[in-house]
Amino acid sequence: MGSRRQDYDYLIKLLLIGDSGVGKSCLLLRFAEDSFTSSFITTIGIDFKIKKVLIDGKWVKLQIWDTAGQERFRTITSAYYRGAMGILLVYDVTDEASFTNIRNWMKNIEQHASDNVLVGNKSDMDESKRAVAYSRGQALADEFRMQFFETSAKNNTNVDEVFQSVARDIMLRLKDTQP
Ligand code: GDP
Ligand code: MG
Repeated sequence: MGSRRQDYDYLIKLLLIGDSGVGKSCLLLRFAEDSFTSSFITTIGIDFKIKKVLIDGKWVKLQIWDTAGQERFRTITSAYYRGAMGILLVYDVTDEASFTNIRNWMKNIEQHASDNVLVGNKSDMDESKRAVAYSRGQALADEFRMQFFETSAKNNTNVDEVFQSVARDIMLRLKDTQP
């Protein structure tokens, strides 16, 4: 067989983590397919989506895994985490419990070396519905030395930015570790 040319410069595996209902599947759908659905997506048979993006002149193939309804801590197996280079920790800015739970998710992932980013989703919701102030998200992200974004999968706000920013951090880290 002849040699097959690789059609990317970097292959990066990312995971979406966070409570059920925060909008992980919608964020992935928005990013990978630029669409939004207002019904719950049950990701049966689809474990990940792939999107190729150009970052700083390099082609980056992002392989993004969705938890597909297995969001209770103990049901997420180490196989899911294996090889993950970056994790998007997602909460819903209108759901206090989903924010509180980020600390538990952090405990769950701390043994996995990765570049993480904190994502407060549903920023489009009316301010009267907001339960978690922007400053609280920023403070938590600072504490864990993560980047922080508020996003809306619905309005397509900051969605590309989250994925690009975590991918860029990972690219820099990979560059640093190369001989
Ligand atoms: P998952 O369980 O974390 O995968 O959450 P889903 O992606 O299935 O979304 C759960 C619900 O939140 C669905 O009804 C979505 O339509 C809704 N949702 C997701 N993202 C947003 C958003 O950015 N804004 C608003 N207003 N609703 C959203
Ligand atoms: Mg989902």
